Amino acid sequence: MAVTRTFSIIKPDATKRNLTGAVTKMLEDAGLRVVASKRIHMTRDQAEGFYAVHKDRPFFGELVDFMISGPVVVQVLEGEGAMQRNRDIMGATNPKDAAPGTIRAELAESIEANTVHGSDSDENAAIEIAYFFKPEELVG
Ligand code: AMP
Repeated sequence: MAVTRTFSIIKPDATKRNLTGAVTKMLEDAGLRVVASKRIHMTRDQAEGFYAVHKDRPFFGELVDFMISGPVVVQVLEGEGAMQRNRDIMGATNPKDAAPGTIRAELAESIEANTVHGSDSDENAAIEIAYFFKPEELVG
């Protein structure tokens, strides 16, 4: 399988609980390599732009409020089939539905405070990586 890249966010519920390392270890143990990483506090504009695809959903306002409620860690992950590999270790959106051993089953608090974001396609991964990183920030 080809080595590809995907985009991940460690969300405010995780940074608040000092779980950046715990989440990153689970990603690394799943065969993903962090090739770029930075801790940022998103502006409202940035979060609304990132989640524009969800702007008509009833939870959009709360989702944006949550994503700017504290710092996040944006990361680019590399590995064989990185997008699917990341989604597999993340687990289902709602931690109640997430398989044991996944990040959300082990660490998430709720469907909103669900610890991690991961791109849902290679196309969206490229868009999301470019939203937060300059090419020269991906250092391998
Ligand atoms: P994503 O699917 O990762 O692009 O982002 C959607 C995010 O919105 C999820 O990760 C959840 O944090 C949040 N979300 C999805 N569905 C709900 C919902 N029914 N209520 C609250 N938050 C939701």
